[in-house]
Amino acid sequence: MTENETRTNRVGRHLPTSGGLKKTLRLAREQGLEAVQIFVSNPQGWAVSAPRPDAETFAGGAREIGLSPLVVHAKYLINLAAPNPEHRERSARALAAELVAAGALGAGVVVVHSGSHGGDGEKVGEERLVEGIVRARELAAEDGAAEPAEPVIENSVGAGTQLCSTFDSLARVAERAGVCVCVDTAHAYVAGYDLGTPEGAREVAAELRERLGDRIALLHLNSPRNSLGSHRDGHERIGEGYVPVEAWTNFFGGLPGLPLVMETPYATPEVDAEQVRLVKELAGGLPLSPGGV
Ligand SMILES: [Zn+2]
Ligand SMILES: [Zn+2]
Repeated sequence: MTENETRTNRVGRHLPTSGGLKKTLRLAREQGLEAVQIFVSNPQGWAVSAPRPDAETFAGGAREIGLSPLVVHAKYLINLAAPNPEHRERSARALAAELVAAGALGAGVVVVHSGSHGGDGEKVGEERLVEGIVRARELAAEDGAAEPAEPVIENSVGAGTQLCSTFDSLARVAERAGVCVCVDTAHAYVAGYDLGTPEGAREVAAELRERLGDRIALLHLNSPRNSLGSHRDGHERIGEGYVPVEAWTNFFGGLPGLPLVMETPYATPEVDAEQVRLVKELAGGLPLSPGGV
């Protein structure tokens, strides 16, 4: 018996949509996933996501398999805190389109990066970020779509003028904008939160709980490729990188109920499925009922 005997963390992963959404659902089933994250548009370009004719089929299929949460990751180009007002407006519009497209797919949340203040300072940057989130939600509501998804803000690695690399900053922005957050474990580590030892992992989990608590919608579960405080992004598989498996066990134990969504490098289907099994085990065991795989 381990201390995490009853698993409460659902285990998910970012999946490609390149072969069509049907294939995405098949991959989810094959890998034993309980939650899934996808892009709804090219993350590197500004092109707005077109409505997908297979959206309802996907939403229904995901419900059938019991995938929850369904998460969309917004474009990387979005910077709601950018110094240039045109870039900010473009970002808010792009995010609004993703909230609408995600809603049509049955996804409840869209993860968006906190962005960069570009030299105008953290305070001004945070204000712009809050305004941008509010604006995107308004635009999505005006669109008349049935049920747009909710934006959630992701912590950064704190490179250059990036916002929200600390839990305090993330909490400030989320509270003011009235939204939840996504905490990327690799980003937190390279930003200076030492979850690389069992004791450190316990402390960081406690700090997260205390500072962000119910505002955390999900964790991006990635092992850091780069060292503590390096402010350099990079994702490794669980069991590799700077965080050992014993630390993960403590970390998950301190954050019961939070969905864990991996963005780790793809390998063969066998390795991918094994990675999911490992995380389920570290989080307290294989079955998760109801609807567990
Ligand atoms: Zn991200
Ligand atoms: Zn990352």
